[in-house]
Amino acid sequence: MHLRKRVLVTGGAGFLGSFLCERLLQEGCDVVCADNFYTGTKRNIIHLLENPYFEMIRHDITFPLYLEVDEIYNLACPASPVHYQNDPVQTTKVNVHGSINMLGLAKRLNARILQASTSEVYGDPTVHPQTENYWGNVNCVGIRSCYDEGKRCAETLFFDYHRQHQINIRVVRIFNTYGPRMHPNDGRVVSNFILQALDNRDITVFGDGGQTRSFCFVDDMIEGFIRMMAAPDDCTGPVNLGNPNEFSILELAEKVIALTGSTAKIVHQPLPEDDPLQRKPEITLAKEQLGWEPKIQLEEGLKHTIDYFKNIFEVSNRLKII
Ligand code: NAD
Ligand code: UDP
Repeated sequence: MHLRKRVLVTGGAGFLGSFLCERLLQEGCDVVCADNFYTGTKRNIIHLLENPYFEMIRHDITFPLYLEVDEIYNLACPASPVHYQNDPVQTTKVNVHGSINMLGLAKRLNARILQASTSEVYGDPTVHPQTENYWGNVNCVGIRSCYDEGKRCAETLFFDYHRQHQINIRVVRIFNTYGPRMHPNDGRVVSNFILQALDNRDITVFGDGGQTRSFCFVDDMIEGFIRMMAAPDDCTGPVNLGNPNEFSILELAEKVIALTGSTAKIVHQPLPEDDPLQRKPEITLAKEQLGWEPKIQLEEGLKHTIDYFKNIFEVSNRLKII
């Protein structure tokens, strides 16, 4: 008999994965982190390595993985456009082959499995805010398609394994999440703006900056994952998790400048292809089914994130070793 719940976190050395591993250890779980370090780093989990209930496996989930666990959180996949577009074929593979491998593992073990899906399944949405029953507006041949269609196919696989093999699945659709341990070079807007502001470099707003996003702080997101995994068996999702407070990218730039006291100036650069115009989660389902809603608002979350980047900025002698 196992006294501790054994939990596998794929992508556990990444931004969200490392916080999830930490939280699961705090809850008394025996945690296995599987990661190929494509975008994750040892630095994110180095503080966990001495914990006897934490195990790290260097593994690419597009290949089968054999181990024994009770629950699986499937987070492995590069999340930022810069990274997932760097090797788009691998991005589709991690979502399709990777999901099949993890669902196969869940099937053999009769384990509960949670999929980290994304608001990108809604594409450039024509419904606002986005509800879970909206089918989305996705280009299947664009530069974001490897990620968007990959994640959509992963959701299909999760629901087919559930219907065909009675796998206990949970699908959460994550909206833009930020916080400490974001990869400094991954090009995501929050980390880009903070690093630019701290270095008094130009703040690169793509397009006119009128496009919107809703930013969720990492601690709130991890709480959502834990609640979703613990929810009753019929709570498969998909469930939106995100902060419904919506900001234009220009507003975000102004907030970052104000909070850092930077002298940086805003400059405009071309809008990337297929960049969604607006994004805001409808989270009624998460409130009703999980009793979950975000608690940390943008300004507070930005302050924590700025402190983190300030620290690594100094330690790394102005980013030379990041
Ligand atoms: P991240 O890039 O920091 O983490 C992803 C992790 O997966 C990294 O550690 C990476 O090395 C690992 N990985 C990639 N390919 C792998 C493979 N083939 N085998 C094993 N490990 C592999 O990104 P994140 O922000 O922590 O995102 C985690 C998950 O949440 C992803 O699935 C992402 O799509 C999803 N998500 C994140 C956001 C967000 O705003 N952060 C939004 C929507 C969805
Ligand atoms: N963006 C920007 N400047 C940057 C990075 C991103 O204006 O330096 C914009 C980007 O075009 C998008 C939004 O910020 O409209 C969010 O981009 P991110 O890559 O963080 O995530 P997305 O939500 O697009 O996946």
